Amino acid sequence: MNIYGIVILAALLTEYFLLTAADILSVRSMKSQLPDEFRDVCSYAAYKTSQSYTKVRTYFSVIENTFLLIVIIVFWLLGGFPKLDEAVSRWTDYPLVKGLVFIGILMFFRGLLGLPFRIYSTFVIEERFGFNKTTPRIFLTDLFKTLGLSVIIGAPLIVGILAFFEHAGSYAWLYCWILGTLAVTVLQYVAPAWIMPLFNKFTPLEEGELRNSLSRYARSVKFQFRDIYVMDGSKRSVKTNAYFTGFGRNKRIALFDTLLAKYNPDELVTILAHEIGHYKRRHIEQGIIFSVIHMGVMFFVMSLFIREEGLFNAFFMQNITVYGGLVFFGLLYSPLDLFVSILLNLISRAHEYSADEFAVRTIGVPDRFIDVLKKLHVENLSNLQPHPLQAFLKYSHPPVLARIKRIRELKELHGS
Ligand SMILES: [Zn+2]
Repeated sequence: MNIYGIVILAALLTEYFLLTAADILSVRSMKSQLPDEFRDVCSYAAYKTSQSYTKVRTYFSVIENTFLLIVIIVFWLLGGFPKLDEAVSRWTDYPLVKGLVFIGILMFFRGLLGLPFRIYSTFVIEERFGFNKTTPRIFLTDLFKTLGLSVIIGAPLIVGILAFFEHAGSYAWLYCWILGTLAVTVLQYVAPAWIMPLFNKFTPLEEGELRNSLSRYARSVKFQFRDIYVMDGSKRSVKTNAYFTGFGRNKRIALFDTLLAKYNPDELVTILAHEIGHYKRRHIEQGIIFSVIHMGVMFFVMSLFIREEGLFNAFFMQNITVYGGLVFFGLLYSPLDLFVSILLNLISRAHEYSADEFAVRTIGVPDRFIDVLKKLHVENLSNLQPHPLQAFLKYSHPPVLARIKRIRELKELHGS
């Protein structure tokens, strides 16, 4: 094993130990006392249940990550990559097809390895805590739809990237960047209209008191009501949620039907206000800009390493190929990827604070917003006090107590 091999192995292990340490700390540091803030909305028994849910989910993810790490390292050290390359080469000579098959098989097996974990998570863990509504039939159709979409969307992109690096010389990274930028933008744009409806039904909210309350608020902040939909989240889980997605004509706020069943119109207005906050503050566009910049950097660095002999030697590969370079660079890049995902979470948490602020400012009832936040977290059995390392590395939303604290500060600032 050469220096590339050592760097990649060290990076894989560091990432694994860092994330696992955060997981274990998170469980170890759980406090037996219910936070004062939650005394009015959560019983001690419910608090205990949320802790055991956190514990089970966390240990489960440790087991899954350990298993995946072992499989990758064993596959690598037993010469899995050159063996697969040989097998694919016997089958075809054309580099683009070879590359597509090589990468396709690796991705397929990566998905296959995760499958038992997803089955256990859905039908055992979520079931045990009373969340699961997914039937085996829904699970299977979801699986095939996802597989189909990855082939339809992923295959042309992989072929495009391979073709550019194969034929376009030193500007290949630039063409890949343009291709990637187009793909990200177009996908974000069409997903709410074409892709999400493949998985869920989105229906306009029916006439009534709720619709009136929501549309009154939407009008007050100049948001088009026709972009608010009810999504049949209850098809898969009783968990409650809402989100904002897309941009331009295809922007959309989805309120889960599970949410509508449990919250009154006033409470739902606060949830809607938070989602409209994401729209008004242009969080989706900012996310796209960030990923476009990130892709540019990644493709450029990739162009420096994609034909690096040492990288191939580290994986015992005889032939230097573009598709091999793509896969091995992916592994070399994984520590940077961890860094990027931490940065993305950081941005996402800032967006959450910003949307909270928008909601509180436009509705003017901070206490109601805090009550809804509390209720949401208690019902979904969220970890009320995650360990700071866990929250820093993995949380896309700030811990609930931090959000409440921020809202109280706002309230004092504006004296409302
Ligand atoms: Zn949000």
